[in-house]
Formats: sequence, structure tokens, C-alpha cells
Amino acid sequence: MKKNKKENKQEPPKLNIYWIYGAIITILLGMSFFGGGSNFKNLSKTNISEFERYLNSGDVSQVIVINKNLAQISIKEESLSKAEHQRLKSTNIFGQQNIKGPHYQFEVGNLELFQRKLEKAEEKGIEFKYEFSTVENRWLDVLLGFLPIIIIIGIWIFIMRRMSGGGVGGGSQIFNIGKSKAKLFDQNTDIKITFKDVAGLEGAKEEVQEIVDFLKNPAKYTALGGKIPKGALLVGMPGTGKTLLAKAVAGEAKVPFFSLSGSDFVEMFVGVGASRVRDLFKQAKDKSPSIIFIDEIDAIGRARGKSNFTGSNDERENTLNQLLTEMDGFGTNSNVIVLAATNRADVLDKALMRAGRFDRQIYVDLPDLNERLEIFKVHLKPLKIIKSLDFEFLAKQTPGFSGADIANVCNEAALIAARKNKKAVGKQDFLDAVDRIVGGLEKKNKIITKEEKKTIAYHEAGHAAVSWLLKFAAPLVKVTIVPRGQSLGAAWYLPEERMIVRTEQMLDEMCATLGGRAAEKVMFNKISTGALSDLEKVTRQARAMVSVYGLNDSIGNITYYDSSGQTDYNFTKPYSEETAQKIDNEISKIIEKQYKRACDLLKSNKKKLIALAERLLEKEVIFKDDLEKILGKRPFDIVKNDKK
Ligand code: ADP
Ligand code: ZN
Repeated sequence: MKKNKKENKQEPPKLNIYWIYGAIITILLGMSFFGGGSNFKNLSKTNISEFERYLNSGDVSQVIVINKNLAQISIKEESLSKAEHQRLKSTNIFGQQNIKGPHYQFEVGNLELFQRKLEKAEEKGIEFKYEFSTVENRWLDVLLGFLPIIIIIGIWIFIMRRMSGGGVGGGSQIFNIGKSKAKLFDQNTDIKITFKDVAGLEGAKEEVQEIVDFLKNPAKYTALGGKIPKGALLVGMPGTGKTLLAKAVAGEAKVPFFSLSGSDFVEMFVGVGASRVRDLFKQAKDKSPSIIFIDEIDAIGRARGKSNFTGSNDERENTLNQLLTEMDGFGTNSNVIVLAATNRADVLDKALMRAGRFDRQIYVDLPDLNERLEIFKVHLKPLKIIKSLDFEFLAKQTPGFSGADIANVCNEAALIAARKNKKAVGKQDFLDAVDRIVGGLEKKNKIITKEEKKTIAYHEAGHAAVSWLLKFAAPLVKVTIVPRGQSLGAAWYLPEERMIVRTEQMLDEMCATLGGRAAEKVMFNKISTGALSDLEKVTRQARAMVSVYGLNDSIGNITYYDSSGQTDYNFTKPYSEETAQKIDNEISKIIEKQYKRACDLLKSNKKKLIALAERLLEKEVIFKDDLEKILGKRPFDIVKNDKK
């Protein structure tokens, strides 16, 4: 069924190209027939000596010399009955004699000689009409002149079709290249999303509610002289529901919704982006009131004139300029509102944020515990779940998940349950789905030696123990040494959802991250490559502390971070060589200090560490309860989430 559909879709372009070829051939044939046909009428052939005889016997009524080389002869009506002209009868397809003529034709050959013969006959007093005419076979000539161009155009169309990657949407792509690729959702499409389908995001919903009102009755606002906003920017991580929110706005306001991605404007041809923008706005205005939604607007909206060495950004700049012009251009009452989404508001061109363009910014954050609960409720609705399923537990198990991740968990859980031939989706299916989404597929049959397994167990136990023993490190949820995706083992934490981070918190986290390597050192006095990602994380954090947040002793309250993104630090360092040295020293000092701290902590808790690692080797997966049993209750559990 699906296949059929695809084939159907691809057929129109094929027909098209053949249609073009067919038309060209038909025209060629037609032209040669109608244009040239009359010159090549099926006249009886004769030759110059025969002609001379006819002429001298006074049979000829008219001689027409065409293009100086073809003579057409008409015979007088009364002479047609002569025996020698009887053959004319048989040449006529209808068996009837053509009385008017011309009747014969022949190649003149030497024109001067021919003319002299005619003159001689005239001198003798023989009467006949005589004319020269030039009949150009114009159509054929013109056509032949154009043939190379036609062929070139044909080849060009062919290449273009190839380049633009086949005919999505039918028709020859080349004719649509300047058209916007926006997908239109309106009353006819049955995707009806309202605010009910968007869980959480209360603040954002409130802000876009205003836009819904504008679209529903613009008069109310314009009557007081107010101007309807032209655009709003939705800022947030991928999967947090920005598209969903924009769709809900369209659904609530019951207006058409044009959806496309910033990268849809960009094509390898110059001028295409700008023309697509124009086309998009034209379509939207025709259907106004309407909403245009541009996802990932940073693809075109990046600050202009940055690192523009090659000039390759010109096309993008043109596109952006066109977008700005269009947003300025439409009148206050055209009722087209542009919503755009990005996860990098900081890199956007300042001109986009100016009043009268995207003058509203709406932040769409990752959902917190309660919002996750709400999102789970939305996505669990269509599933068959066991009655006792604790939604709150699911929300707790998914810190840092976006709305899209949660939707994914629900779907994955249903698939896992189905694979186990269950009647309803249960708690364990959800946990498995979470694991799978966080870590990738379990690789139970990955070959790991006993020794390696031991190292991994101690490494993970090290993370677990250190984070358990430090006040500000994120508390642990689960540790596993089952290899999964790229990792050989993993520890899951429940990060506190906090807005600002203090120095001690950062240091504690770094210490816990180094706990893995510290455990290897303390237990085996050997370290391994298994800590690569830990080191990477710690180094990044330490560098940020020193050069971004000013959380250090030797550099002080300076940041080398440029939130406007205007400077390209790959080429220009904002500090001197001397400072660079200092920064490097400071980073190294911070990391080594935390490493030593982790080692000391584990040395003094060595027995607990061993117990933990052995338990891990035995069970492969251990949870918070096991940790509590071995390490004792965590004295400073201040995590907000756990209160619930
Ligand atoms: P974004 O545009 O921010 O990348 P989307 O809007 O495309 O994210 O979200 C992807 C999917 O995730 C949605 O189709 C929806 O199923 C789910 N989702 C995301 N956020 C929410 C939410 N707040 N409520 C319900 N579902 C959500
Ligand atoms: Zn580690």
C-alpha cells in the first residue's frame, strides 16, 4: 500500500518530462508539415528540355521560379487534354485533374541559361506569365536555429531535477525552487492541537494566550490604537514542546498554520532563500489571519557579518534580510504572526529581536517534576497500563527529560511490553524504556573479562560512594555495570534542579565525577582509560569555573565569555599568553585537589567501597536502597524532589 503511494507520487514528473519531449517533437513535425509542405507538393517531375517543348508549343500558362532553383509550371487548361499531359491525372490522389496548376516542377540548374530560354520564347511571341518568388521555409529554419537551445534547456531541466533531489510534491522541482516549502495545517488538515494537549508550560501558555486573542479578534486591540505583535520567539531545548505550543496557538485561534524549518530556506542556489521567504509571506497573507512557524530559526537568523571569510554566508544574509523586510513590511492589520523557535537565542542577530519583529521572547524550559507528571498523563492516556502504575514514580525517574523524551519513553515502554506479550504496560517496562533511552541498548553479550568487570564495578562504586558522602553532589538513583551503548557501566543521579550553582556545589560534583578513577587508584593502584568521559566532564567544568564564572582564586572576577557570540575565540584569544598560562595552572590545580579529595574519602571508607563493589559484581544493578544499607543513610538529603 505504502509502496503504491510512493510510485504514484513519482509519476507526475515522469509524465511531465515526456510530455515536454512529446510536445517538442509534435511541434517540429507540425511546423515542417505546414510550413514546408506547400513547396513539396506532389507535382509531376519534368526536365528542362521537356519544359522547353511545352513552352514552345504554347502549352505553358505560368512559370514560377522559387528560390532561384525550383521551377513550377502551370499548363493552360485547353492544353491539358493533350496526350503528353495525361500523366498528370494519375498523380492526383483523388483521380481528378488539378486544373489550375501548377502541374510540373523541375530543378532549374543554371538560372541564367533558363532565363535566356524564357526570354527567347517571349521574343517569339509566346505568351505566359513569369515570376520569381522566394518562399522561405521559415518555421523550419527558425526551429533549426533554436534546436541547440532547446537541447540545452532539456539537459538543464534534467540536471536540475537531479540536483534538487527528485520530485517531492510532484511537478518539476525547478519550477518550485523559489517557492516556500512550508507545510500548511488548516481546517482541512485534521491535526487539531489545543492547549489541552500541551502539558505543563503554564507560563509560556499564558504568554501565547495573548497571541491567540489577537488573532481571534484583532479589532479589539487595534480599536484602541495598539499594534498587534508581529512575532514571538520560543526559546528552549529541543523537544520541550515549542512546535507543539505553536500548533496549539493555531488550533486555539482556529487559523491556518504554516510550519517550516529555518534550514528549508537554505539552498545551494543564490537568491532562493529570499524568494522562498517572499513566497511564504505571500501565502500567509492570502490566508490571513494566520501563523507562520519557523523552527530552528538560527539556521538563517545567526548574527550577520561574523567569520565571513569566504563570503559563503551571503546567501544566508540575504535570506535573513528578506525575512526582516517582510516582518517590517506587513501592515499592522495583515494579521500574520510569526512564531519562531530556537535553542540558541544568544546567537541570533540582534536585528531580529528589535521591537516590531520578534519583540516577545517566551522561554520554554525543561519540565520540572510536576510538569513531567502532567506530560506523562498526556502520553499515558492512549496506552493500556496496569491499574497500579504510579505516575509520580515515573516522573521522579526521569529528571532532565524533555517532553519529547517522555513521549518516547511511553512509546518505548509499550513496545517493550508488547515484546513480552503482556496485556498491559507495567512499571518495569517503563524503567527499561528509561534505561534504554538514557543509555542505548543493553549489550548483555558484550565480551568483558572478569578483570575488566571488576575494574568497572570498582569504578562505578567509586562514583556512587563519593557522591553519597558529599553534601552537594547529586544523590544517586542507580548504578549498573551492564554495558549499554558506548558505556561499560553507569551511575544515575537525581540532579537537583537549581538555577545558580555555588562553588562548593561545583567542587563536590567534580569530586564525585573523579570518584571512579580515584577508586581504581585506591584499590588497584592502577588507573585506566575507562575514565575518559569523566575527565572530559571535569575539565570542562573546571575551565568554566576559571574562565567563565570567575569562581577561582588566581584569575578573579573576570569572565572571558561573550554571550553575544560576536567574537570567534578560535582565532582570537581574549587574554594574553601570560593569563592563558595562569588559567591552565588554575584548572589543573582545581582538578588535582578534587582528585586527591576523592582518593582520601575512599581510603577512609575503603571497607564500604569494597562492599559496594562486590554487591555490584553480584547483582549488576543496585539501587538507592542498597547504597543506604551499605553506606548508611545520607545525612544531608536536601533534594526537593524527594520531599514529594
Ligand atoms: P520542539 O519543537 O521544542 O523541539 P516538539 O514540540 O516538536 O519540540 O515536541 C516533540 C514532541 O514531544 C511533541 O510532539 C509531543 O509529543 C512531546 N511533547 C513535548 N513537550 C510536551 C508537552 N509540554 N506536553 C505534551 N507533549 C509534549
Ligand atoms: Zn566514570
